Amino acid sequence: MPVKPATATPEPSPTKPKYTGFDGQYIDGVWLPGKHGSKLSDTDPYSGEVLAEIVQADKDDLDRAYRAAAAAQVAWAAATPITRAGVMLRSAQIMEERHAEIVDWIVRESGSTIAKAEIEWQFVYSVTIEAASFPHRASGKILPLDEAGKESRVYRSPLGVIGVISPWNFPMYLSHRSVGPALALGNAVVLKPAEDTPITGGLLLAKIYEEAGLPPGLLNVVIGPIDEVGDAFSLHPIPRLISFTGSTRVGRHIGQLAMTGPSLKRVALELGGNAPCVILDDADLDVAVRATVIGRFLHQGQICMSTNRIIVDAKLHDEFVDRFTAHVKQLKYGDPKDPEVAIGPVINQKQLKAHLAHIASARSEGATQLLGGDPQGQVVPPHVFVGVRNDMTIAKEEMFGPIAPIIKANGEADALRLANETEYGLSSAVFTRDRERGVQFARKLEAGMTHVNDHSVDDTSTGPFGGEKNSGLGRFGGDWIIQEFTKEHWITVRHEPAVYPF
Ligand code: NAD
Repeated sequence: MPVKPATATPEPSPTKPKYTGFDGQYIDGVWLPGKHGSKLSDTDPYSGEVLAEIVQADKDDLDRAYRAAAAAQVAWAAATPITRAGVMLRSAQIMEERHAEIVDWIVRESGSTIAKAEIEWQFVYSVTIEAASFPHRASGKILPLDEAGKESRVYRSPLGVIGVISPWNFPMYLSHRSVGPALALGNAVVLKPAEDTPITGGLLLAKIYEEAGLPPGLLNVVIGPIDEVGDAFSLHPIPRLISFTGSTRVGRHIGQLAMTGPSLKRVALELGGNAPCVILDDADLDVAVRATVIGRFLHQGQICMSTNRIIVDAKLHDEFVDRFTAHVKQLKYGDPKDPEVAIGPVINQKQLKAHLAHIASARSEGATQLLGGDPQGQVVPPHVFVGVRNDMTIAKEEMFGPIAPIIKANGEADALRLANETEYGLSSAVFTRDRERGVQFARKLEAGMTHVNDHSVDDTSTGPFGGEKNSGLGRFGGDWIIQEFTKEHWITVRHEPAVYPF
């Protein structure tokens, strides 16, 4: 991942009026209040400012969205590849023109620092450009056949309607890594963003695609209370796949609904993580310290790939701890709109309470706190703990906050055992001066992704992103998402009469 230094937000484009009207739903190309009628307050997690009041949807709105998607998808699937690619490229151009406006929304709605919001913008843009190539890459096959006079073909086509549910931490990207490829491949989408980020996770994308000329009905954004639209979203008979990114707890529930409900459907589940970052005895400590600081503290640690456990060989442990702590001490925390700030607010009060509980558990279970401090509003100062064991709560559970647990390992085999001793298997990292040693170590890690001499927070629009164990099912990115969001139909055709046995 290209982690760029913090930059001042680019000046807004003078040529375009800003997007407005974020107060309801986007269904079948129409902006309208939801029929549930209750209001969702969308607030800035740093200042508490109310950014929007969204009139929420009910089950009828959801049903209309799915029906609109199904109706619009037929013509969209039949559209020429260049038509679909054209919409993707126009969307990318709008993202460029509205770069400053998008970054500003990400900072204000999700409490992202400017550096993180810039990274997110880059991811969104990159996945849009990649998706623009999909209409020309989604191809079928003619297979070799040991039978004369007959042909065996595999046709590839869109799935139909895809339901997308996304989280609040990289809201625009984690929605768009599904929405962009789904649309480019000829599907229609109903998107349900997280309650904390309805704009960057959904409505902003709808504005961009509307401006880019996407026909009505192909992208619908539904925002409603979970007890109203939650289960109904996955149980609805229209979607052929639910693409869910979020916690393992909710993902498991959605998987069960999709697999055991009355209409069986596919799921893509991108769930929680507990990434180990292993520092072997020959690591370059300068590299390892800088990378683990980013890997743990980027976006306040609120990333599924965040380094959740720093496992350091005993030979380097004390020196690593000194250097790591000294580096973290210098990090500025506070207002994410300040380009110097590395650590902004956590998303909401519920998350804040969870972090305080993790900090309390670390102290009561015997870890030693080297850095910390009281929260200021929703900003939690960076915390560093040493003497952490793998059986302590802060090592066992996914910690979505700026808290760094350091665990000492007795050699490589012990480091590997500790790294794999988790229910999760999303991302991971290993540091060593011997790159092949790093690759061999990586191959023994039970994870979908490992980065040698880099931090665990990495994603590209072309790589297979995903996890194993309780971190999920399926892969995003490049050829993998083409496979995930299309279906194959095997068709044989006889050119000459067959000789049957009876
Ligand atoms: P969450 O599971 O609480 O919520 C995710 C989404 O699911 C939200 O939109 C929420 O409204 C929705 N939801 C909740 N209950 C639902 C139900 N019954 N039916 C339908 N939708 C429902 O997760 P979160 O707190 O928003 O995000 C943090 C979690 O997401 C962490 O565990 C993190 O690791 C994970 N995550 C994973 C990835 C990945 O790519 N693997 C990326 C980012 C975040």
